[in-house]
Amino acid sequence: MNISKPEIICIGEVLVEIMRPAAGQPLDQPGEFRGPFASGAPAIFATAAARLGLKTGFIGAVGADAFGRLMRNCFEAEGVDASQLQTPSSYATGVAFVAYDDSGGREFVFHIRHAAAGQLAADQIPAAYFENVKWLHISGSTLALNTNSRTACQRALELTLAQGGKISLDPNLRLELMPLDEFRRVLAPFLDSADLLLPTESEAQRLTDETDPRRATQKLAHKPGAIIVLKRGPQGCAIFQDGERLDISGFAVEEIDPTGAGDCFSAAFIAGLQASWPLKQVGRFANAAGALAVTKLGPMEGAPTIQQVEILLTAEIAKNAEQKYH
Ligand code: ATP
Ligand code: MG
Repeated sequence: MNISKPEIICIGEVLVEIMRPAAGQPLDQPGEFRGPFASGAPAIFATAAARLGLKTGFIGAVGADAFGRLMRNCFEAEGVDASQLQTPSSYATGVAFVAYDDSGGREFVFHIRHAAAGQLAADQIPAAYFENVKWLHISGSTLALNTNSRTACQRALELTLAQGGKISLDPNLRLELMPLDEFRRVLAPFLDSADLLLPTESEAQRLTDETDPRRATQKLAHKPGAIIVLKRGPQGCAIFQDGERLDISGFAVEEIDPTGAGDCFSAAFIAGLQASWPLKQVGRFANAAGALAVTKLGPMEGAPTIQQVEILLTAEIAKNAEQKYH
């Protein structure tokens, strides 16, 4: 069989997102929605990685319905290999409803665990798919779904390590899916294998009960040489490796929709590591990608191409030079 062999593999939930058009319209009241938008943290990551030019493949599950077609079409249009999208019979494609409150917080109603997204079958993941794998990216939201998802992620992890590939893990705590203490338990074996960890600053605190970021990162990562990146929203990120801390400030942009920033950031960070750039350059590139992601409504709409990231980076250099001159 002729099988694609991507370098970046992402595994996890595929869903469409249906959102309130404006903030302050809670989900417990009738009102308007916008969507469906292609979504799911792993699917956003995969799309962002492909837009940045990485050879990316996706392992997930959709229903034989219109939303499943939307996702397949999306992957095809974006150049994400969707040959490993499973279609379990009698399950609809996953859906998430999202509303924003006036202070920027989000509320979700998830139909994922009991949808196609929650039926990933480990025994349908072919070992040959991993022959060229450099990175496997896993989101904690996938591990929180159910045993099917965790078993499939574990198999993907073992196949990746067997090929000398690396593991990237975004804890992506979604407490609507699982309480914190259980989340910690399911993340633990994956934290042990992670070469790259991408929590937000607050996720690192919640997972370790440590308010000091350095101590939190020391508790989180166990693999020698592991890189831990604390995502800090508009403030950018802090990168930790072997006890060293590198702070990289964010880009000033107008935030329209924060969803997907973390996933675009992660894809860009891996693109930078794949290019063997110094960590400072990798962090700036990822901050720029995350910043661009929030400038458009919809989970994937803002995921930038490499050229769009470069335009923002160049504009920033010009702005700094001008400020220095005046
Ligand atoms: P997600 O909503 O995808 O889960 P996250 O909470 O995981 O996102 P954030 O810290 O919100 O992660 O965003 C990831 C990165 O994107 C940040 O580290 C930063 O580089 C960039 N970013 C996010 N929001 C903004 C913003 N408002 N302005 C500029 N950059 C931003
Ligand atoms: Mg996140």
